[in-house]
Amino acid sequence: MKIFAALAALWITAALMLVVFLLDDDSTCGTAVPAPASPGAPLPAGSKVYPVAQGVFTITDGFGARGGAHKGTDYAAPEGTPIYAAMDGVVHDSGPASGFGDWIVLDHNINGEIWSTVYGHMYEKDLLVHVGDQIAAGQQISRVGTNGESTGPHLHFEVWTAGGRNGGGTPIDSVPWLEGAAQPGAGPAPTPGATPAPGVTVDPAAAAGTGTGISPTTPAPAPAPTTTGNSAGCAPADSGGGVDNLQPGLVPPEFEPWYRRAGALCPQISSSLLAAQGRQEGGFSPEGGANTSALSQTGAQGPSQFEPYTWTSWGAPVDDQGTPIGPVGTGDIHKPSDAIMAQGRFMCHIAEAVDGWISSGQVHWSGDRRELYVAGYNAGEGAVLSSGGFPTGSSDYVTQTRPYVDNILAMEPQYRRALS
Ligand SMILES: [Zn+2]
Repeated sequence: MKIFAALAALWITAALMLVVFLLDDDSTCGTAVPAPASPGAPLPAGSKVYPVAQGVFTITDGFGARGGAHKGTDYAAPEGTPIYAAMDGVVHDSGPASGFGDWIVLDHNINGEIWSTVYGHMYEKDLLVHVGDQIAAGQQISRVGTNGESTGPHLHFEVWTAGGRNGGGTPIDSVPWLEGAAQPGAGPAPTPGATPAPGVTVDPAAAAGTGTGISPTTPAPAPAPTTTGNSAGCAPADSGGGVDNLQPGLVPPEFEPWYRRAGALCPQISSSLLAAQGRQEGGFSPEGGANTSALSQTGAQGPSQFEPYTWTSWGAPVDDQGTPIGPVGTGDIHKPSDAIMAQGRFMCHIAEAVDGWISSGQVHWSGDRRELYVAGYNAGEGAVLSSGGFPTGSSDYVTQTRPYVDNILAMEPQYRRALS
C-alpha cells in the first residue's frame, strides 16, 4: 500500500481509459454466487424498495455531481452486497455497458408510463436476471461490484422518468424518489430447515424482516483439513488457497482469528498469505509501522497499512464473524478485525480482477498468480492491468513492489500449517 496513493491518480486514469472485458467467469476461481434472496411476500403494486439496504450504503457521489454529468447516485457498499430491484418491472438490459462494467436496466410501468431504473458497476458473474425477466420489487438482481469506470465498490443507481432510459425519459435524483421506500429483505422468514448454499449464510436480521437477506462475504466455516484440496487451480496446490491454513501461535492472538477468517474468503488467497502480507505491511502492530520506507509516509495506517483514501472503499466495520455490518469507510483502520477482513476482501477483489484479465488475455502470466495479487495490493491493481503483468514502467516497482512481493511469498510458507 506504500505507493498506492502516489500511483492512484495514474491508475485511475488508466482504468478510465481501459475497457475491461470479462470473459466467462471461471466460477471455480471466484467467490460463490449466492442464490437470489427470496422476494418474500409480494409488495403492493407500485411499491418502491431501496436497491441496497439502508444502513449498509453510504452515498459517495450525488445526482448531478461532476458538473451535472453524473446521471445517478453512487451508493457505496462492500463488494458483494446484494442489489435489489427498486420496483416491479421487466429486465430491459443485463450485461456489459460502456463505463458501467456490467449493468442492469429495469423498465417499470408507472401509471401507464415506462420509467427505468439503472444499476451499474457489477460483474458479469453477479447478474442474476436476464433480459425479458419479470422482476418483483425487492427481488435480488445482482451484487455490488466495482467494474467499469469505478474506483471502489458501489452501486451506481439511476432513475429515469416517463419514456425511460431508452425512450426519451429524463434522469432524476433517486434520493427523494426513494423516500419512504421499503427496506429490502422484508418478507417471511426463510423456510425452516432450508439449507443455504455453501459459503452463504443467512443474515439473522433478515429472518426478522429487517436485514439484507444474504451476507455473501461471510467466510465459510473453515473446512476440515482433509477436505481442503484446492480445486481452483488459481494458486499452487500446496498453498492452501481459500482456507484457514494458519499455523497456530505465529501471529499475535488478537490478529490470529482474523487471518483465519479472511483467508477463507476466496479460493485465490489463504490465511498464511494474508499473515505474511500483514507481517510485511504492518508488522502485526495496530499502528502499523514495520515499514519505514519514505513511501509509507504517504499515510498508510493500521495492521494492513491501508491508505485512508483506499479505506473509504474497503474499510467496513465487521461483526465477530468478520461479516461487514456497516458502510465502507466507517470501520476502524487500526482495529485488527476491520483491517484484516478489509485486507482479505480487497485481496479477493484484486485476485478476481487479475484472473479475469488473464482469462481475457489482457495480462499474460504463467507463474504464481499470487505475485500479481500481492503486487496489485502494493501498487494498485490498475498497475497490473496497464503493465499486462507484473507492474513495470516506474522505478518504484523495481525498488519497492518487487521486494515487497518477494518477501511476502518467501515468508508465506512459514505461516502455513501443513494440510494433509
Ligand atoms: Zn455513479
